[in-house]
Amino acid sequence: MNTGDRIPDKRKYLLENFGRAMQEGWLEVYYQPIIRGSSGRVCGEEALVRWDDPVLGVLNPAEFIPILESVNLIDRLDLYVLEQVLAKLDKFKEMGLYRVVHSVNFSQIDFFSSDIVAEVKQRVDASSVPPSLIAIDVIESACSTRDEAVLSKLDQFQKLGFQVWMDDYGNGDFSPILLQQINFDLLKINMNLVSQVRTSKSAKVIITELVRLAMALGIEVAAEGVEDDDEAEFLKEIGCVKLQGFYYCKPVSLSDILTRYKNGTQIGFENPDEREYYTAVGHVSLYDLAFTNNDENGMVDYFDTLPMAILQVNSEEISLLRCNANFRKFFHANFTDKRGVTTYHFKGSDKLVGFYAMTEVRQCGIDGKRRIIDERTKNGKTVELLINKISDDPVTGMAAVAVVILSVTERPGNLDDLSYNYIARALAEDYIKLYFVDMETDEYTEYASDGKNRDITAIRRGQQFFDVPEDERYKFIYKEDRARFIDSFTKEQITHDLNKYGKYTITYRSLMNGEPKYVNLKAVRVRTDNRHIIIGISDVDAQTREQEAFQRIKEERITFNRIAALSSDFINIYCVDPNTGFYEIFKMNPENMQYELDPEGGDFFKDSRERFKEIVYEEDVDALLKIFTKENIIASIKEQGLFTYTCRVKRINGGFRYVTMKTALLEELDGPHLIFGLINVDEQVRKEKEYAEKVSEAEDKAIRDELTGVKNKHAYAIAEEEFNVRIEAKRANDFALVVCDLNGLKDVNDNFGHQTGDQFIKDGCKIICTVFSHSPVYRIGGDEFVVIVQGADYGNLDKLLENMEKVNNRNAKKKEVTIAVGVAKFDGQREMSEIFDAADAEMYLNKKRMKKGEPTHHARVNF
Ligand code: C2E
Ligand code: MG
Repeated sequence: MNTGDRIPDKRKYLLENFGRAMQEGWLEVYYQPIIRGSSGRVCGEEALVRWDDPVLGVLNPAEFIPILESVNLIDRLDLYVLEQVLAKLDKFKEMGLYRVVHSVNFSQIDFFSSDIVAEVKQRVDASSVPPSLIAIDVIESACSTRDEAVLSKLDQFQKLGFQVWMDDYGNGDFSPILLQQINFDLLKINMNLVSQVRTSKSAKVIITELVRLAMALGIEVAAEGVEDDDEAEFLKEIGCVKLQGFYYCKPVSLSDILTRYKNGTQIGFENPDEREYYTAVGHVSLYDLAFTNNDENGMVDYFDTLPMAILQVNSEEISLLRCNANFRKFFHANFTDKRGVTTYHFKGSDKLVGFYAMTEVRQCGIDGKRRIIDERTKNGKTVELLINKISDDPVTGMAAVAVVILSVTERPGNLDDLSYNYIARALAEDYIKLYFVDMETDEYTEYASDGKNRDITAIRRGQQFFDVPEDERYKFIYKEDRARFIDSFTKEQITHDLNKYGKYTITYRSLMNGEPKYVNLKAVRVRTDNRHIIIGISDVDAQTREQEAFQRIKEERITFNRIAALSSDFINIYCVDPNTGFYEIFKMNPENMQYELDPEGGDFFKDSRERFKEIVYEEDVDALLKIFTKENIIASIKEQGLFTYTCRVKRINGGFRYVTMKTALLEELDGPHLIFGLINVDEQVRKEKEYAEKVSEAEDKAIRDELTGVKNKHAYAIAEEEFNVRIEAKRANDFALVVCDLNGLKDVNDNFGHQTGDQFIKDGCKIICTVFSHSPVYRIGGDEFVVIVQGADYGNLDKLLENMEKVNNRNAKKKEVTIAVGVAKFDGQREMSEIFDAADAEMYLNKKRMKKGEPTHHARVNF
């Protein structure tokens, strides 16, 4: 709105209405927060006046302040604003809100037109506000006159406890001398300069130098007119601790502030108790450690500073308060995954890169000791860090610690860049305890490695390292290893080993929380020092146990291979947990893959029964499945110590082979195991069969008559023996002996030769065999046979003898072989020979009868 249109003489209007404006509240104080860069909280507010005119609308100070100045009324306005500010702070106190310093703009004219100091003091004294919460804000040009009146009044203000701020610094005369003359509490950098940060490198240099100058003089620096992120970051980096501008917040009215409070949208106020802490934090220039690489172009390298950050740390976490651009660059380059992360939590980070450095930061926060350490980054670079404490926050208990990156090795992973410190630290981490022992006096110091911080700290000093009462010193050693340890761990032995091998070591089990754990004790001499030794005890439990297990497996393998070499007939062996059925396979023979179960499995019995259906020869499957159950196998092992079963498995190319399954139960350290072996017994079984056949063939030969093929007299002797046993045991069934004698063999032999004689015998034998077709026939002499008649033949005996007679009659006519036959049945005799004799006697009688052509007679059997 062009206010000039409606009010032709605005100046006159404003002057006439100035008093009313104050009374009616048209003059309203707006507040613009000043932000602490490191905390992001409001650390101050500037009072800026507005004239909300009912006719002209809202007027900015530029429209009415020069007018009021020109008529020396400005002090009335400024004191009016001060009153509003004091009222606000009173109200805040009542409301229990934090109160931060409020700056009130005072015109240069104020210093001449009235006793401004007294006016201010009187008002402040009448309020609840301490002078330290009021900053007298004067513009640079106001002071630049170097008028004694201004300077002395500012001095008075300061003496009364007020803060004195210089506004608009860098705008006008830019006088460093001024800074020397007045001990300003704060310099506010001119808005024009700030607005050039993005575009002008020289503006950046000027601001940086201004800040550096102010800081060197112990003056805080604020920047006004901060409108964006770039400006804010830059200003924070160079140590400009307070920031004001639209980027954070525009000036707002008190009622707006209260509404924001109510809505929770107000930027939080700084706790006054933390003021000192944040002041200290802010006072570090992150460019103080600047160095220039290239002297010819100072401007280019002006900001090529060491990466530096100020961190805030407590026992649990670290957060970033401030950092410079190079630190941000370094951080982004080396921790790409941590972009945007500003808080580091100790918990759960102890295995991650950077933990050591972070714990050092934490430690520095506690002990305040400056340290230089080195740390390795994930990509193998070595980073050297300077860590220095700045201040403690009394409210949060956090400490501010500056971290400067002094150097970073260029070539990642280059071993030359590993520092001794780094290596020593890494190694020391492995030691549970370290001792530094004086071998002359036996005095020692015990160190423990703090696993978390990887720091070695002395925890005890003692007098007699080797001369501690035995029970005291060795009670930590596992009893099985104690004697060996005591025997070996002597000063003499250690000295001997050090001389001979340059070190002494022993591995034993130490009791930790009652559990035996393997540890390795190693003693070495301190270099260039013959008197002292260092003894380190490291935890090698996992390693040793692994080694032991490995050794055990190796031994098992060797044993197994030896067994395998001996019994190449094993197709495979399974080790089965009888409770769960879980199994492990030991392969013996790669060609036998087709008989294997899966390499490892869930249930041996179930899996193998399934597999049997595929691999076992069809005819044997059912029988095997019937017998191959867990219950049967265990029962059989209980009874006989072993379960064995032989059956046939299929061959790939058809046919079958014999295998034997053998199962034994072994009680081992870790419980019972069923050892199941599949053995190839094919050759053996086949050989056995062949052998059995050969044996029976040989046996047969021994008892068979070569000429006729019937059994011989040996066989009869055996049979006679068996029958005698049975007779004696009264277990003999009904039987009869038939003795047969061929008639006229001698004549045939004599007249027709042996060959015809042989045929004659064969013919006769055939007749006997045909007649007694169900009974064994024995040839017991040249022409003599005996038949043991049993079973069906016995029941038919009389009839069979009749048949024999018929054959004889027929043959007699044809002049063929006839047979004299005698019979005797078993009927209470005690021996076979008795029966035989009876039959033989009857045969002789019949032979005589036949010679005479008379009919033969037989004792009747079947009646
Ligand atoms: P100043 O003391 O330098 O105040 C800062 C001025 O910059 C304010 O303008 C404020 O609104 C403005 N400002 C703050 N942040 C930004 C930003 O990010 N960008 C831009 N472009 N401007 C920003 P305002 O309120 O118009 O005040 C102008 C000047 O009037 C003040 O300059 C101050 O010298 C004077 N003034 C204001 N109130 C009073 C008063 O009560 N008494 C006296 N004697 N002078 C006053
Ligand atoms: Mg100002």
